[in-house]
Amino acid sequence: MLETEILKKGDDSGNGTLIKYTSSTGAVIKAIGVPQSWESTLGPTWCYVIEGDDLTLVDPGCYGSLTYLEQGLGALGRSLTDVARIVVSHGHMDHDGSCPPVIRKSGAELWAHEIYGFMLQADRGDVERGWRREVQGFKDFENSETMTRVMEHRELNRDLVLDHPVTDELQAGGLTFYYTPGHSPDELCILFDQVLFSGDHILPLITPHPSVAMSYNSFKKSLPPAYSSSNDIYGLKALLTSLKRMALLEGDITVLPAHRAFHRGQFNPIGVSRATEIMEHHRNRCYELTQVMGAGPKDLVTITREYFSDREVEAQNFFLAFTEVMAHIELMQEAGDISTNSGTAGGRLWSNGLGPDVPINWNGTDQFSVFIDDL
Ligand SMILES: [Zn+2]
Repeated sequence: MLETEILKKGDDSGNGTLIKYTSSTGAVIKAIGVPQSWESTLGPTWCYVIEGDDLTLVDPGCYGSLTYLEQGLGALGRSLTDVARIVVSHGHMDHDGSCPPVIRKSGAELWAHEIYGFMLQADRGDVERGWRREVQGFKDFENSETMTRVMEHRELNRDLVLDHPVTDELQAGGLTFYYTPGHSPDELCILFDQVLFSGDHILPLITPHPSVAMSYNSFKKSLPPAYSSSNDIYGLKALLTSLKRMALLEGDITVLPAHRAFHRGQFNPIGVSRATEIMEHHRNRCYELTQVMGAGPKDLVTITREYFSDREVEAQNFFLAFTEVMAHIELMQEAGDISTNSGTAGGRLWSNGLGPDVPINWNGTDQFSVFIDDL
């Protein structure tokens, strides 16, 4: 367990809050609540600061929120120019968004998983938009302010140079890196002393959004050769495999996640066993989806709308809900619980055998459960 001290209070959701964590071995980590630069209920990205001879930042935070990071460091008696190393948990804009200006001001080294470096250069916009165009209801998402920011952020990050490409189980600079793909293909968990910085891989209160396995086929060409033979990095199967791995880490480890570590005035301490809870959440979601599919074949959009019928799932949320459902259907498909009738797809068939008009038929089995146990 970590000792906690609030150094500075921020707003209700934690934005602008400064926290000091001390481990039982005396290691000190400070955390800055860096706000998102768009309207969000997520709360801040926690940027973790390790002060040694020089300064390490884990996830400098969202694109467009540099001033908050700067103010936070200032309150700790530091400045951006002190930063010697940035470690990025994964390449989503709420985590690595401030990398370009911080590196410009400090000359800091950039550390991230080796796939992060490849994805900086990949032409993601076109690849991702290709299949999205076919789904009714995604238009609002494509035109949203968030998407505009994502595209701007990607353009700016293209100039980044990954100084230290990290691979699984690397130990360097006092840190041990674990490669935990699934939410993102480049996700890392980073062990320092008895603390695991878990990025978005393990979160309290909320669960990380799984990527879809289908993306592997789209991005295969952009990946290092070691990852090009089979898909172990995209989709729910990859996420669950990575969760299982972290749940097995031994020792008195406290998890410091990138979100919700402190939320609405409360600390939410978690250990690696939270990874098992998240896994069970997804197993349960598969069971819930079988209930929706039990009434007969339905396409993915219908399943999504029925499954999330009690929630507002328009625009951005509909995209997240749809891909969340797709990730589960893909896993059940691989486990042998799902069959599809692609004859009615009208040519619009995706590389995972699904498509906007493809009816999905549940076979009445729950082999996904054993499939998850065997991962
Ligand atoms: Zn995040």
